[in-house]
Amino acid sequence: MTELSIKGLHIEVEGEEIVKGVTLSVKSNEIVAIMGPNGSGKSTLVNTVMGHPKYKVTNGEILMDNKNMTDASPDERAKAGLFLSFQYPSEVSGVSIANFLRTAVNELRGIKMSVPDFMKLLKERMQLLEMDSAFSKRYLNEGFSGGEKKRNEILQLAVLEPKIALLDETDSGLDIDALKAVANGVNKVREKTGMGVLVVTHYQRLLNYIKPDKVHIMMEGKILKSGGAELALEIEEKGYDWMKTEDCE
Ligand code: ADP
Ligand code: MG
Repeated sequence: MTELSIKGLHIEVEGEEIVKGVTLSVKSNEIVAIMGPNGSGKSTLVNTVMGHPKYKVTNGEILMDNKNMTDASPDERAKAGLFLSFQYPSEVSGVSIANFLRTAVNELRGIKMSVPDFMKLLKERMQLLEMDSAFSKRYLNEGFSGGEKKRNEILQLAVLEPKIALLDETDSGLDIDALKAVANGVNKVREKTGMGVLVVTHYQRLLNYIKPDKVHIMMEGKILKSGGAELALEIEEKGYDWMKTEDCE
């Protein structure tokens, strides 16, 4: 059992406070969703949890199994079992997916997997995700469609087996079939590994396929409301603005 715990986190970007005291936790097997309008600080929060150097924690802490990770390097966080899937994955020309993943898995586990052993693992995980094996020969994100970029992120999940996965807007720009394929992949990896998932999304529709145990609504750097899956449906129906009004009254 693993637990990521974020306690009273305040985050500054270039001198401006963006996240203003966020507390939440994610355990193994659990699916926790953060929803909120654009600009509410969702990406800032998950990037900071992964250790992006641009974001400065001014107060509060990030813990993995009670171990303080607030000042750890991204590498140490990955080794502790954290994984971040990006909203906008970058292209790395000249590096195939297979090579990238083999390097990553060896680095993460501190081992040197032989090429045949790695290819066996990769093949198995691509089958789990119903992906064409030719895909792994392509260069990382180069010329990928939106759907392929996201599926590649899920393949990383399946190979690297993080304890807690942070998925930032994994649904953005996907049509419904690609969305289902990605959600299905996340669910399969979770069933296999028992990872916990922190899923960040603007829209409710992803949560029809990745069913959250808890939902937090984030606005202007704070969590305004928390609840179960029904809260996401309420947002779908009413939007976000009513919450702000309620907060002001
Ligand atoms: P969300 O993911 O909820 O849409 P973000 O965390 O991306 O929100 O952004 C929250 C606010 O922080 C925005 O006003 C954005 O301009 C600012 N911000 C986030 N990251 C950076 C950055 N790297 N540099 C400057 N401003 C940033
Ligand atoms: Mg974002």
